[in-house]
Amino acid sequence: MSIDAKLFCSRISAGWLHQFIIASRICISHSIHCCMSVSLSEATHALKVESSAPRFTTAQVEALFELPFNDLLFQAHSVHRKHFDPNELQLSSLLSIKTGACPEDCKYCPQSARFKTGLSAERLMRIDAIVAAAKRAKQAGAGRFCMGAAWRSPKDKDLLVVEEAVRQVKALGLETCATLGMLTQVQAESLSAAGLDYYNHNLDTSEDYYAEIITTRTYQDRLDTLAHVRDAGMNVCSGGIVGMGESRSDRAAMLATLASLPTPPQSVPINQLIKVPGTPLENEADLDEFEFIRTIAVARITMPTSYVRLSAGRETMNDQMQAMCFFAGANSVFYGDELLTTNNASVEHDRALMANLGLYSLQH
Ligand code: SF4
Repeated sequence: MSIDAKLFCSRISAGWLHQFIIASRICISHSIHCCMSVSLSEATHALKVESSAPRFTTAQVEALFELPFNDLLFQAHSVHRKHFDPNELQLSSLLSIKTGACPEDCKYCPQSARFKTGLSAERLMRIDAIVAAAKRAKQAGAGRFCMGAAWRSPKDKDLLVVEEAVRQVKALGLETCATLGMLTQVQAESLSAAGLDYYNHNLDTSEDYYAEIITTRTYQDRLDTLAHVRDAGMNVCSGGIVGMGESRSDRAAMLATLASLPTPPQSVPINQLIKVPGTPLENEADLDEFEFIRTIAVARITMPTSYVRLSAGRETMNDQMQAMCFFAGANSVFYGDELLTTNNASVEHDRALMANLGLYSLQH
């Protein structure tokens, strides 16, 4: 084994990840490492069979980030191709069903009542208006309809409205998702009984960096809501936002936490910070684009059977960067001209990009 491989391996504790990375490097440099015979597919199989055990430390995930770019993308794409049709994209549309005036202080969010962003608050939408928007999303080609409300947590009377909206949207033949803030176990079970397929609640960042971004609720609060969603039998949608001034180690820690949940989230949105004027992060430095692509690739490797969503921030990414993200394992996007309260890549542009890359919607 080469010195650099030894150094690399010395950073990773025993377990499948060690085998996985070694195996992948062997595939890449077969002539050097031909004496070792663990294949990439065997390593990914090991990942599947050990899926109930705690899976990752931050150091292990950081080691993935530190791979040479081509090695990382090769691994990520190999994992992607093993578990998914690499040319298929899951398309989700997102609607803000209750906008602004949120009491929380998430520093990236224009919907917080604490920041002057010029956003007009709007009450909870009527069910018929929500369903009309869902119909338009379906006609445009979306397969999942996500309803977002700017609440710390939903009131029970509001939840009744959302649940009826879920029933009617589901009846259109769409998958349903909601993001309504923190949930109790009873609320999660009520949403599940209404037929909600996915509940989104992002970890946002690492536990260590979390207090730099949000002070009005704890990381444990977030994990508790994810547990309630999981225990209620719904699919979990949970990811984070990068480019908020966090370190690579924070990005690795966030992915390690997500991948080591009792069941990794079925959907993992990776958002690039949208620097909305008036929010505390409006002047945050740009994250290096290769680092963003690395984050997608590491999410794919650590959560091989999850849908990894190239989420907010796409409207500022050029087509080549998006294509690299798809190669690195992103297989879901937010589709539609708006993302809650910010702009998204246009439907026309997305259709042209998908045609150019030979990508097709999961529904087709
Ligand atoms: S991210 Fe959600 S909880 Fe945080 S301020 Fe915005 S709407 Fe409120």
